[in-house]
Amino acid sequence: MTLPTLGLVIPCYNEEEVLQETTSRLIPLLAGMREEGLISERSAIFYVDDGSRDRTWSLIESLSAQHVEVCGIRLSRNRGHQNALLCGLMTAPGDLLISVDADLQDDLDVIPQMVRHYRDGCEIVYGVRKRRDTDTFFKRFTAEGYYKLMAAMKVDVVFNHADYRLLSRRALESLAEYREVNLFLRGLVRLLGYKSAIVEYDRAERFAGESKYPLSKMLSFAWQGITSFSTAPLRLITTVGFLVSLGSLALAIWALAVKLLIHNAEIGWASTVVPMYFLGGVQLLSLGIIGEYIAKIYMETKQRPRFHVDTCIGGSFVERSQG
Ligand code: UDP
Ligand code: MG
Repeated sequence: MTLPTLGLVIPCYNEEEVLQETTSRLIPLLAGMREEGLISERSAIFYVDDGSRDRTWSLIESLSAQHVEVCGIRLSRNRGHQNALLCGLMTAPGDLLISVDADLQDDLDVIPQMVRHYRDGCEIVYGVRKRRDTDTFFKRFTAEGYYKLMAAMKVDVVFNHADYRLLSRRALESLAEYREVNLFLRGLVRLLGYKSAIVEYDRAERFAGESKYPLSKMLSFAWQGITSFSTAPLRLITTVGFLVSLGSLALAIWALAVKLLIHNAEIGWASTVVPMYFLGGVQLLSLGIIGEYIAKIYMETKQRPRFHVDTCIGGSFVERSQG
């Protein structure tokens, strides 16, 4: 039986502080799996440099010169985590790819477990954070709320799963058929189907450096997830519109009744001004939400490429271009 070739896909944006450590943990891990007969000799690490502005790329080059397993893919500029990840998944060779962050927050020791699930016939294996007490209270609270909101909107996402996952070649080929520009990979992967499994792990703290996901990026990513997978906000507008119309009809009937039954009743200032502001607010919000979807249609219709690869280095690429 030929052993499958594993590729580890690791997006990196300004990660000069962690790459050395990440590599020194991954190399023995790969060696162990090769010895165990889980993966082939050609298994490799693919660092995807997402247009870093620090020494990340030169570090990848020197790591690649030192270790045959280390390969590098350099994007032409920063395209964001999801695009960098997709680039790695679409570019790296291998029978199965595992995507993982560079900062060692995801427990690497569950990788052999993921590969065993693959050997048992799973095409997708999700890494799920069992405990995340190393995250800030704010991050945990908002993440939990978000997963619940997604579930309420009937969007299929795996609770507490981010982008730590295994994909087989077959799953990757299916993923390649999704051409959308606004990427939300954890939602897309759920659409693939196929046999899947879950491995649980405890989330650690970032090894070094700062999060490359500040609050603004996190919020925009969360909104991206909602608008890419659900039209519930549009439906909500319709519902609110309907309820407000119903309310105003009731108000009109009440006002008429007051006028007819209790003559000289005075209709106050509040009953005029409050609904005016309220309706103005609801209308602006509704327009905004509709606008968001239209903007999305606009971006999707352009079908712009999601990334451009500048350079590929490392043994796996040399082999491929020769083969
Ligand atoms: N990342 C990237 N491009 C970006 C931002 C982040 O490739 O524009 C990478 C980053 O280097 C890391 C992963 O995405 O490997 C997750 O980012 P980070 O750990 O900063 O996010 P957090 O864990 O704080 O949510
Ligand atoms: Mg992180």
